[in-house]
Amino acid sequence: MDRLAEAIEQRCERGETGSAVRLVERGAVELARCWKEAILQRVIDRAVGRHLGARRSGYQGIGRSPWRCPRCGPRLGRELRRNGGYRRQPLVAEGRITLRIPQLVCRGCDKSVPFSHPLLPRRKRLWLDLDQQVALLYLEGCSYRAGRRLIERKCQSTVCLMSLWRSFQATGKARHAPPGRPPGRYLALDEVHHRVRGQPRWFLSVRAQDAGGGKHWVGSVLSSDRSQDAWETALVELGISRYNPPFAVISDGDQAIESAVAVTLPIRRREW
Ligand SMILES: [Zn+2]
Repeated sequence: MDRLAEAIEQRCERGETGSAVRLVERGAVELARCWKEAILQRVIDRAVGRHLGARRSGYQGIGRSPWRCPRCGPRLGRELRRNGGYRRQPLVAEGRITLRIPQLVCRGCDKSVPFSHPLLPRRKRLWLDLDQQVALLYLEGCSYRAGRRLIERKCQSTVCLMSLWRSFQATGKARHAPPGRPPGRYLALDEVHHRVRGQPRWFLSVRAQDAGGGKHWVGSVLSSDRSQDAWETALVELGISRYNPPFAVISDGDQAIESAVAVTLPIRRREW
């Protein structure tokens, strides 16, 4: 603390007030990051301790645990044991944190039992505090790409566009989601091959017809490949989520398109 205060003093003496303010700010952000890391780790450890007992205490939890064995179903605390753990590094508003997630094992069948907690939804890379910020940015009119730049600057870390989109989708399920376009009848997805300076390129294109019969191009995204990833990025960039379900998605049955649609438009009816 004294060394930091000294560094701040030195900057002020040199007339670098802006730099001194940034030092204070950086310290505050780091403090908040560490605090979130510590408190979430405590919550995880306590959840396991409550149901399985403290390590090597001989205590065997009573009652039902919140975790289920994929083979035997819901488990009592005493039907589970610890088996090490793994690291998870979600991104919070102040940067990346590292959490030790316990690995649980079913005593009945020796199968591993996934640990879950309401504060740590599975497969989520952005932590819940960022969900709110992503939704706010979007409602302020920020595109996903601009939102990503702002979030990346704030968290000092790179963020995948898909994670941002998933985060917004999770928030947008609420009743006050922004209004979309008129209901679509179908979206047609196709790719057009091109050569740009001798290199193969694809236009990943989407056409739409709405319930009123109106047809239009949603748009095309130029891509160096036509993989599932490329299609997912294209569907996000073209704002496909604005089109109201239910509608049919038409494609030539390409596996990459099918999988990308299943990820980005999981509730839509599909026709090939
Ligand atoms: Zn089991």
